[in-house]
Amino acid sequence: PIALDKVPVWTSTPGHSGKKPKFKRNESLDQKISLFRGDITKLEIDAIVNAANKTLQGGGGVDGAIHRVAGPLLKAECAELRGCETGEAKITGGYGLPAKYVIHTVGPIVLGEVGEEERDRLRDCYHHSLEKATENNLRTVAFPCISTGVYGYPPDLAVHVALETVRKYLDEHHSKLDRVIFCVFLPTDEVLYLNNLPLYFPPG
Ligand code: ADP
Repeated sequence: PIALDKVPVWTSTPGHSGKKPKFKRNESLDQKISLFRGDITKLEIDAIVNAANKTLQGGGGVDGAIHRVAGPLLKAECAELRGCETGEAKITGGYGLPAKYVIHTVGPIVLGEVGEEERDRLRDCYHHSLEKATENNLRTVAFPCISTGVYGYPPDLAVHVALETVRKYLDEHHSKLDRVIFCVFLPTDEVLYLNNLPLYFPPG
């Protein structure tokens, strides 16, 4: 397991990307964001978010990894939830995981171009997952890159939805959360987040 104090806090360096920030600095968000490349199932944290499918019965990608490490009790608890709609979020225990809870959310499937519908549902995933966390008094949450694997959402578009939705939620609820970790798995996603984090969490 990887303890949270081993995951560095992300800090923007002035002039990092050369692009104009989309948000002003919010000092209360300093020290609350991390970018971590690796396996989300290793994180010792209040909650990890699962990019699940509507059945909540496990699948490939990050979902499969989470169920493998959590074990059969997770599947049993998920079965009682009777599925999950796209954009919704449901919470379970973490069982064999070092994370205390798993927040399951179902991302949109993209076939062809990304439309407003897909973008809104991806936003819902991040927003509802953060709501689930704060409703349950959880203070630290890690997200995978929802929908960007098998579900086909272009990672270069998804990164903006992820960062903007988290930034807006934290603007309103920063006192309820201590850390949000963007957990990337692919080196290409790490680059996308490194390039775009300064636009949403700019330095002073
Ligand atoms: P979706 O069906 O929502 O597209 P996937 O699991 O196929 O979900 O992919 C979502 C993202 O999760 C991808 O970027 C993939 O590389 C990443 N991923 C796969 N395994 C892990 C893991 N163990 N920890 C974190 N991220 C992972």
